[in-house]
Formats: sequence, structure tokens, C-alpha cells
Amino acid sequence: MSDIQEIIEIAKRRGFFWQSSGIYGGVSGLYTYGPLGSILKRNIVSAWADSYISIGALLVDSPVIAQEDVFRASGHLERFTDLIYECSNCKFRQKFETLLEGTGKGVPSSAEEAMKIVSSSGLKCGNCGSDKIAVTDFNLMFPVGTVRAGESRLFLRPETAQGIFVDFQLLIRQNRDRLPLIVIQTGEGFRNEVAPRNAIIRLREFSMGEVEVFMDPESHPFTPDSSKEPVNLMDRDGKDMALPVSDALSRGIVADPAMAFFIQKTHRLLTGLGIDPGKLRFRQHRRDELAHYSSDCWDAEALMDDTWIEIVGISDRGTYDLTRHQSHSGKSMEVKIGDKTFIPKVLEPAHGIDRILMATLVHSRRVTDKGYVVMSLKKEIAPYKLAIFPLFKKDGLSEIAVDIFSRYSKIDPYCIYDESGSIGKRYARQDEAGTPYCVTVDYQTKDDHTVTIRERDSGKQKRILIDDLVSGPVLGNKYVISAFD
Ligand code: AMP
Repeated sequence: MSDIQEIIEIAKRRGFFWQSSGIYGGVSGLYTYGPLGSILKRNIVSAWADSYISIGALLVDSPVIAQEDVFRASGHLERFTDLIYECSNCKFRQKFETLLEGTGKGVPSSAEEAMKIVSSSGLKCGNCGSDKIAVTDFNLMFPVGTVRAGESRLFLRPETAQGIFVDFQLLIRQNRDRLPLIVIQTGEGFRNEVAPRNAIIRLREFSMGEVEVFMDPESHPFTPDSSKEPVNLMDRDGKDMALPVSDALSRGIVADPAMAFFIQKTHRLLTGLGIDPGKLRFRQHRRDELAHYSSDCWDAEALMDDTWIEIVGISDRGTYDLTRHQSHSGKSMEVKIGDKTFIPKVLEPAHGIDRILMATLVHSRRVTDKGYVVMSLKKEIAPYKLAIFPLFKKDGLSEIAVDIFSRYSKIDPYCIYDESGSIGKRYARQDEAGTPYCVTVDYQTKDDHTVTIRERDSGKQKRILIDDLVSGPVLGNKYVISAFD
């Protein structure tokens, strides 16, 4: 089974995520996060938000629905499309570029051009082989009706960014009319993907963590530090290299210091969340794959199942969005800083939270010599930090364990009590859930008020006084730390 498939199985069994509305057959690309996944996702979002709020970012929360005017100005109405073909014989639908694979032909820019390729090359439906196929430009946005009949349409947002751009003037005021201004937003984005797949990797509704960095391109504080840590980079021509980001900047591989700064920051965030630095790279977009708003883009890609999958896109949006909103709304998007009046440039690190979560799961999964799965999630993002078990339910051990649980959960709610099944099964369950510590109450506890604490990654077990265990959360607890030194 592939790594992603293994995770999909564990995720359903343990309660990280599963396809929604399974009783009705489900809709591809719509997933529910279960009890473990919801906490894991929240921990990832918090780590992301904290890392930006700590450098002065402002957090906003705009509606998921916006009016047509917003997406006309942003270009999404006209250009957020995929060329697809539909077969009138078998009703199959697929991206047109999939049909072109192996033909050596590039993706055409319009449906008309695509239809010419279909007839000149005799292309046939990839499902039934019929030639009754028609290519159309398929807009990925979900329309959600109108407020009143005849009024302009409303859409679910395909990205959270526009909710920031439309309120730029209100936000810069909140920043006391200074640049740089960093605004972050997390929430759902909606895209009617033609081929949702791999569970939470390609969804129709997904979670984003977007960062819009507004700056004066000639005067800003963003430049990478001199850390010697190598980062895997692949440039526009497909050349691979591993070098410190500051070297990549001085050698002109990454042209812009701000882009280099955010590559370094993103690398730290992702590896800090547990993504394997050896399976992480930053790949520069070729010119022909840049989005309509972008002049340069470096994607953070994680290796999963021998495929590099984009998890964050760091895009230079220039003045595209603010200029478009200025001309469409008639409202100024300029700032006056000193004696200079201008539209700020925007750099956007856009994080796909679901894909980051998937990569942390794929990269943290290991199988022990005995064939058990351990999810070695970073302790800081693990859903539960501690599990408490009685060795047996009898002889008063449950009562002691419940008492420890009620004392401990007052200082750290991310603690779980389990008395069902054998002790071995309970350890295995918590290993799959990624819980870093398990505590067991046994007969010795009755004599000396100690419990066994077991560390997930080393499998080591130590005895610790109950009073020491409940003196603080396990992650910062000096008695726990010193026990495993
Ligand atoms: P984009 O605006 O297309 O660069 O998307 C920003 C990030 O969102 C990407 O780097 C992906 O990690 C993530 N993403 C994009 N589309 C999807 C999707 N359909 N399902 C899940 N994540 C997505």
C-alpha cells in the first residue's frame, strides 16, 4: 500500500479524517476531520498564525462568500478555469491536459484551440474511446445564488486573499499607515476541482492559511538571515540544489530578498511542524505555469509516495490585485509614505493546511520491528499529549487512574483516559494517535505513589511520582524531561 493510502486507512480508523456523508456515497473532495484530526489541524493553524503574529502580522476573518464584482476585479471570474473535455457518449469528464499527455502537445489557451487539436490529432475519450468529446472552459468557483433576484451573483471564495485586498485601506489604517503591512487569514477556500483525489490533498473545500505581505519594494526589512542550514531548491530550469537561502540569494538563484526571506521562514515553519527536510523542496514555477496574478512563484513541495506535492505557494503578486480593485471599484488603493504615493507590492505565502497536515502524517509514520505503526508527530502538534491507563480495571487501579486523570486534565485538557482492551493494545492505539506520553497505574502505585511513564518515540519507561506528573503539562514538565534525558 502507498504511504498516502496507509495514512488514509489510519486516519479513518483513528479519527483523523474521513470522507463526508459516506452513508449517501459521499461526494469526492469533501472530508470531515474527526476528533484527532480536528485538534491536529487546529494546532497546525495555531503554529502558523503564531509564527506570523510574532513578526507583527494582523489576523483577519472575512466572509467565505463574496460578490461577483470582487472576482471580476481579481480575474477569477474570467481566468480561474481549467480546460476540460466531456464525452457525450459516456458522460466522462476530465482535464483536457490529461488527454494531451504523451502527445507532445502543449496545453492550448482556449477551448476553440483545444477543439482544433481534438480534430487534427483525432483525440478520443480517455474512458470509452468515443470521439464525441467537447472541450469547454470550466470555472472552478462555486456560485451560490443571489441575495435578490436580478442582483449580481455571489460566489464561495476560491482563496481567502481577496477578503484582505478589498479591505486594504481599512487594514493599513490599523497598521498606523505604515509599511510593511502583513495580514494573515485562515479559513476555507472552495474550488470545484475537476478531479479531487488523495483524500485531503485535492479537496473541493479546503483550509488555507494565507499571508499577504504589503511592502514598498525599494524599502523593506525582509532578507534571509545567515543560517547555514541547506534548503532544497529547484530553479525554473529544473536544476536541483541544496544550499543556505542566503547563498541562493547572493548567487541570484532567488532574485528577491523578500522572496528569500519567506522561503527561509516557510522552511522553518514546515520542518518545525515535523515535515522531513530531506523530503521538502522549494520549486520555482516555470513561466508558463504562473497563475494569472503572479510574476514569480516558489512552491514548497513535500515528497509523498515518490511525488512532489505543493503544500505552500509563495507568490509575487506585485501590484496586480490592488491595481485591479482600484480600477474596478474606483477607490484608491494607494498609500502615502513620506513624500511617496504608490500602490504597494504584495508577496503571498499561501499555505494549504490540509496538505501540510497530510505531509506531517506521512513523514511522521514509522513501523516498528514488530510491525506496529507509530505516528511520531512533533509533540507540540500532537492532538493529545498524555494518555492515562490503569494496568487492570480491578483492585482499585481504575479509581486511582481516574483520579490522576481528573487532577491532570485541570492543568492540561489534552489528556485522554483509556481502560479498554489489553495494555499493549492501548499503547498501540496511542502510538497511532501520535500521543507522546502514556502513563500506567499498576500495583506498585498503591505502595509508593509512582506511575510508569512511557515515551512514544524511544519506547522507554520510567517511574515518576504522581505529584510530579501533575505538577505541570507533560511537555514542559521538568520531572518528565529529566526522566528521559
Ligand atoms: P494556490 O492559491 O492555488 O497556490 O493554493 C494555495 C495552497 O492551497 C496550495 O499550496 C495547496 O497547498 C493548497 N491547495 C490548493 N488547492 C487545493 C485543493 N483543491 N485541496 C487542498 N489543498 C489545496
